[in-house]
Amino acid sequence: MNPSPFAFHRATSVQDAISLVSTLDNAKIIAGGHSLLPVMKLRLAEPDHLVDITGIPGLRGVAERNGAIEIGALTTHRDLATSDLIGRAVPMLAESALAVGDNQVRNRGTIGGALAHADAAADYPAVMLAAEAVMIAESAKGRREIPAEEFFLGFLTTALGPEELLVGIRIDVPAAGTGSAYEKLANQASGYAIVGVAASVTVSGAGSLSAAKIGLTGATASAVRIPACEAALVGRTPSADVIAHAAAFAPEGLELLDDLHASTAYRGRVVRGLTARAITRAVASAQHKAR
Ligand SMILES: Cc1cc2nc3c(=O)[nH]c(=O)nc-3n(C[C@H](O)[C@H](O)[C@H](O)COP(=O)(O)OP(=O)(O)OC[C@H]3O[C@@H](n4cnc5c(N)ncnc54)[C@H](O)[C@@H]3O)c2cc1C
Repeated sequence: MNPSPFAFHRATSVQDAISLVSTLDNAKIIAGGHSLLPVMKLRLAEPDHLVDITGIPGLRGVAERNGAIEIGALTTHRDLATSDLIGRAVPMLAESALAVGDNQVRNRGTIGGALAHADAAADYPAVMLAAEAVMIAESAKGRREIPAEEFFLGFLTTALGPEELLVGIRIDVPAAGTGSAYEKLANQASGYAIVGVAASVTVSGAGSLSAAKIGLTGATASAVRIPACEAALVGRTPSADVIAHAAAFAPEGLELLDDLHASTAYRGRVVRGLTARAITRAVASAQHKAR
């Protein structure tokens, strides 16, 4: 099906985009278009105006500044998958970017679009939670920062207001001895996560875990952190038994989805398995860095 008719506007700056979105009636931002256009073709969204933000300078790229990694909203999945800085500092983000769709999707789709769309099966939300990332939004009212834990509110729903532009993401440079990993069971047709788990752990000088942050996507209506699993890791010396014990907590208390891709029972088993794998790889990477 074709989308309903719309007018197309190219924003030249963040302020221009904000002004267009807030003054035009029924306007929507478009970045890579890989989530918006399919929704428009299904007539689930019928904007009268599209505001293209891909020409705005300064919104694409990755940089380290003042102890933090700053990622522009227009940074593509491919940019993230191939960034040395991301690969070194936040490997779970590089791995999740490489796990998005296929080459065409990775070349065109942006992290800002993926986060703003907040598909329940999208990869990045799990990583943003495990990295304790901060989303930076701008609107006519100014700039505000939204921690990942307050950003993903539910199915296709975020804390962004209709006239707010996500301009970037900030992640603190992980502490020394931190390792991370992303594991995913992908839908074979779309590539989306049936279950995706991001794990970030920090190994102290004595060899025990001083921090553990686990994010889960695909398994519930919106990405979540798994505090019970994190608590079972912190203060312990990581071993196969400790990791298996912690991973066993992962699906507890969650309302796991039951759909044509996977039953609740199957998702629960996959959540446990992928959580154990992600933690195991994150620990190995942390121990390697701590040497
Ligand atoms: C075949 C296929 C396979 C895919 N597989 C995966 C997968 O395996 N894993 C996965 O996570 N994703 C997958 N995706 C989705 C892909 O990652 C999209 O690129 C992404 O979800 C949306 O990014 P975009 O730049 O294309 O956004 P768009 O489609 O342009 O926009 C998406 C939504 O976000 C809003 N928006 C965009 N940018 C901003 C901004 N800066 N500020 C505020 N709002 C904004 C738009 O208004 C729209 O509502 C797949 C998509 C396709 C088509």
